[in-house]
Amino acid sequence: MSPSKLSPARQPVFVLVGGTGDLALRMLWPSLAMLDQDGFLSDDLRVVSVAREAVAKTEFLGRVQGAIEKRINKDLEDGTLDRFLKRVSHVALDASDPEWGNKLKAELGDIDTLDIVYFLSVSPTLFKPICEHLETAGLSRAPNRVIIEKPLGRDLASSKVINDSVAHAFEETRTFRIDHYLGKETVQNLLALRFANTVFEPLWNAQSIDHVQVTVSETVGTGDRLGYYDDYGALRDMVQNHLLQLVCLLAMEPPSNFNSDALRDEKVKVLRSLKPITADVVKEVTARGQYGAGFAEGHQVAGYEAEKGSPSNTETYVAIKAEVANWRWSGTPFYLRTGKALPSRTTEIVIQFRAVPHSIFGAAAQPNRLVIRLQPDEDIKLTVMNKAPGLSADGMQLQPLDLSLSLTNAFDSNGDKPSRRRIAYERLILDALNGNNAAFVRRDEVEAAWTWIDGISAAWAEAYPKPQLYPAGSNGPISAHMLLERDKRVWND
Ligand code: NAP
Repeated sequence: MSPSKLSPARQPVFVLVGGTGDLALRMLWPSLAMLDQDGFLSDDLRVVSVAREAVAKTEFLGRVQGAIEKRINKDLEDGTLDRFLKRVSHVALDASDPEWGNKLKAELGDIDTLDIVYFLSVSPTLFKPICEHLETAGLSRAPNRVIIEKPLGRDLASSKVINDSVAHAFEETRTFRIDHYLGKETVQNLLALRFANTVFEPLWNAQSIDHVQVTVSETVGTGDRLGYYDDYGALRDMVQNHLLQLVCLLAMEPPSNFNSDALRDEKVKVLRSLKPITADVVKEVTARGQYGAGFAEGHQVAGYEAEKGSPSNTETYVAIKAEVANWRWSGTPFYLRTGKALPSRTTEIVIQFRAVPHSIFGAAAQPNRLVIRLQPDEDIKLTVMNKAPGLSADGMQLQPLDLSLSLTNAFDSNGDKPSRRRIAYERLILDALNGNNAAFVRRDEVEAAWTWIDGISAAWAEAYPKPQLYPAGSNGPISAHMLLERDKRVWND
């Protein structure tokens, strides 16, 4: 374990802007505490929370402690809270105050001796004023870094505005854009699986792979995010970032090394190879849905429009047949789908291999399938055909056998006891503290993703303005099933 520190001579400081908010309480405070418990934080690291609300120190530490206990529960070891809470302070500052930067500077002390990471866990509308304050007060100078998270715009133009406002204060190498999927163990393992083994890569192409499915399904509706969601929809909220990041890792060429630019150069090539979806094909290669009344998670759900209280054309479900138009993938579609109010909470990648070219076992020999699961459990399984054990009067019988490839689920790094399932933010915060941006999204990736997504939005506006209703708790709109049926395939449900 190496304690986090980019500049050994400077004292590390983690400034959590929005330290009282939902993301901070559910994810960020528990992640920091777990990094501390596992010895990843430098002894002198301080954590400074910033928000408008003035909270007395004891009350604030009580809130942070409550959030950590709620999230970590049985994995919290004696002594972790005491050690971690000693690092924490809170300062009440309003981003609309022109003195925000100077007041923060006064709180931080001699900034020339500090190595500061800012996590902006606030609405993106505040990124610009906050970055301006940081710049004016001299708080954005190297080696200081900034972490930001989605929504980074709702189209290419608005994402450029956000990125420009951050870029004014922090150059690209010091800007860490989180897609928390990239912090998940199984997503990281995808890179190891593809590029640390010889067995998969020769098969990782259109000659051997029939198609790929990427599914992110949620059982919940939009809940209290409806106000935000109605302006975004499933395409912008989920496909532009999480699903396309998974496609990048699945489809990219092997990078020449594991450094952040080599990796991200290959990812951006995938995004730029996505075949544009135009109005003349959009109804064939995409499905748009919106949940109506039904039952989800055992409860009656009123339906999206009824929850909103007015008509809406926002999609809560999207399925897309995406094509990566390059030599490796021509002829192998990537089917993407994501939606709300569905029967299960699942994040899953299915690599469906082609059938054997000539089966001596007839139809019994099913094609191999690699299933990479991120939710509800993290797991990787390869389905291979196997002889059913024992005798049979009808000759040799076959059966599919699942080989689990997910050693990370079974062992910790010492190889001897089950490991705790980490919060994805733990890895990302640690990487940012150490100045390693390989698992963060570069600006050109965000913009290439928006370029493709904007094409779909425009095609929908022209040729597919209304989403198709599906009952809450069902498997999504009929059009999503027809999308695969047209290609004589089925979703892995
Ligand atoms: P939230 O619960 O509304 O928290 C916002 C935080 O910002 C609070 O600490 C709030 O504290 C502070 N804040 C608001 N206005 C401020 C101002 N003018 N000056 C200084 N601080 C201010 O929001 P959230 O759910 O944590 O989300 C934060 C960001 O992360 C959003 O952009 C969201 O889209 C994104 N995000 C959230 C999640 C999630 O699971 N929640 C997931 C992914 C991305 P005060 O009101 O005391 O100022």
